Amino acid sequence: MTLTENPLASTEATRTFDSLDPTTGDVVGTHPIHTDEEVRAAVERAREAGRWWSALSYDERDTHLSAWKGVITRRLAQLADLMHRETGKPHGDATLEASLAIDHLAWAAGNAGKVLKRRKVASGLVMANQAATVEYPPLGVVGVIGPWNYPVFTPMGSIAYALAAGNAVVFKPSEYTPGVGEWLAQTFLETVGHPVLQVVTGFGETGAALCHAGVDKVAFTGSTATGKRVMAACAETLTPVVIEAGGKDAVIVDQDADIDAAADASLWGACSNAGQTCTGVERVYVHERVYDEFVAALLEKAKGLRADDSPGSHLGPITMPKQLDVIRSHIQDALDRGGRALIGGVDAVGERFVQPTVLVDVPEDSLAVQEETFGPTVTIAKVRDMEEAIARTNATRYGLGSTVFAKEHGMEIAGRIRSGMTAVNGVITFAAIPSLPFGGVGDSGFGRIHGPDGLKEFTYPKAIARQRFKPMLALTTFTRTEKADQQLAQLITMLHGRGTTIPKGPQAPQGGLNRRRRRRG
Ligand code: NDP
Repeated sequence: MTLTENPLASTEATRTFDSLDPTTGDVVGTHPIHTDEEVRAAVERAREAGRWWSALSYDERDTHLSAWKGVITRRLAQLADLMHRETGKPHGDATLEASLAIDHLAWAAGNAGKVLKRRKVASGLVMANQAATVEYPPLGVVGVIGPWNYPVFTPMGSIAYALAAGNAVVFKPSEYTPGVGEWLAQTFLETVGHPVLQVVTGFGETGAALCHAGVDKVAFTGSTATGKRVMAACAETLTPVVIEAGGKDAVIVDQDADIDAAADASLWGACSNAGQTCTGVERVYVHERVYDEFVAALLEKAKGLRADDSPGSHLGPITMPKQLDVIRSHIQDALDRGGRALIGGVDAVGERFVQPTVLVDVPEDSLAVQEETFGPTVTIAKVRDMEEAIARTNATRYGLGSTVFAKEHGMEIAGRIRSGMTAVNGVITFAAIPSLPFGGVGDSGFGRIHGPDGLKEFTYPKAIARQRFKPMLALTTFTRTEKADQQLAQLITMLHGRGTTIPKGPQAPQGGLNRRRRRRG
């Protein structure tokens, strides 16, 4: 987005912009538009502070990060209020989001040493005279580019893990949530006393500048389209990237599922945060035997949901005004192509708020089934069996999260869905388990935050082979003898020469997801 196009931008001469409350349009705060030079300077400051930070032990960094965690926790209400004002999300949702981020910070700080410190690995018979170790040093300075929909939880998935691994971080928050980004950097500085975490604010150009500013990795979270631009910019300097992009997550409901729980989870997954969740539920595939029961249960629960600015409202406004057009166009396209809205519809899209919308009979190649809607809408489709549910779930270019409600075949179905994460008999639960990796495949991106994989993402593997004693077989020398070659050949034959026998004949019959149905029918 250019400065002139951006409704939040003030004139370039003032070099500031306002963040606005999406419910009222009120100004929440005024922030600098950082230029290329200023972003470079921030990276240099971070590099300097990072020298001190990376020289600390894991325990020392844990102490600092735990102190920061304490400050965030004690000021949770203040942070949640700022999140509420910048995104419009209800206070309760903001508190939940920040609480989960705090839990991740605690896990990353407490586990970094265990995951990343030097450890011995087997050196093998051929190299038995060597001691082999691997460790994971930090990369240096990590640039984190974040979205507005979860302005604390999402960037902290990169920030907390990158810091715990020993990196410095320069964070570019979304233009819609700069205040939250500044709050995080200020509380860090206040607690730790060194500018290891810096924030730069502005629009897309500031994010682009961060890609060119000499960082050692970019952790990007945002749309797939911007992710491609970030990757192209980083390619020029061979700067590695993590791309956490959009999704089109599905729920699969099998015939033996707890229908009430499945309906509750599908509705919450579709409508919480006004549907503006990367792992939000946008599609549901339900076994034909329980379809009517499921739809009735979901509609009953949806009755009480409203999006407005009253204090008890479950759904806030659509944070980014231009998203309203996308949501409207997806609903319109579904209806034009034979779909029906059981609640909501095109009229559900207001000037700031979108009411929950449940669509059925929507063709699989329509926008509402294939493209990320990012609003409180969901399509529900009837399927013959779980094979069809899996096939349809996997038939999008995205592969972020997914959900299965089933008793007998839950794990089996989960294992066949092409997505980075799956919740069984729950929804988005994987995001709140710090030891699980978070990320997608396909157009949802690559690389991982959270868990041991998320710590390693911000490091590089460092292998060391140390000679313990002179080798029986000297291999890496021009003085290697013919006898040594023969002895090596004998050793390799002894170790690997026998091979394995591949069984012949017909394959054993496969188990099937329709077993239960066949037994019944
Ligand atoms: P955008 O892609 O519009 O923006 C993401 C960030 O990139 C913002 O900080 C933005 O700055 C910045 N940016 C924009 N242009 C560039 C550029 N050329 N170079 C570098 N940075 C740039 O996404 P949204 O903020 O609208 O976020 C919503 C998207 O994020 C959805 O698709 C959602 O699915 C996805 N998402 C993915 C998650 C995941 O973990 N997989 C989690 C949360 C959201 P500015 O805002 O100032 O333009």
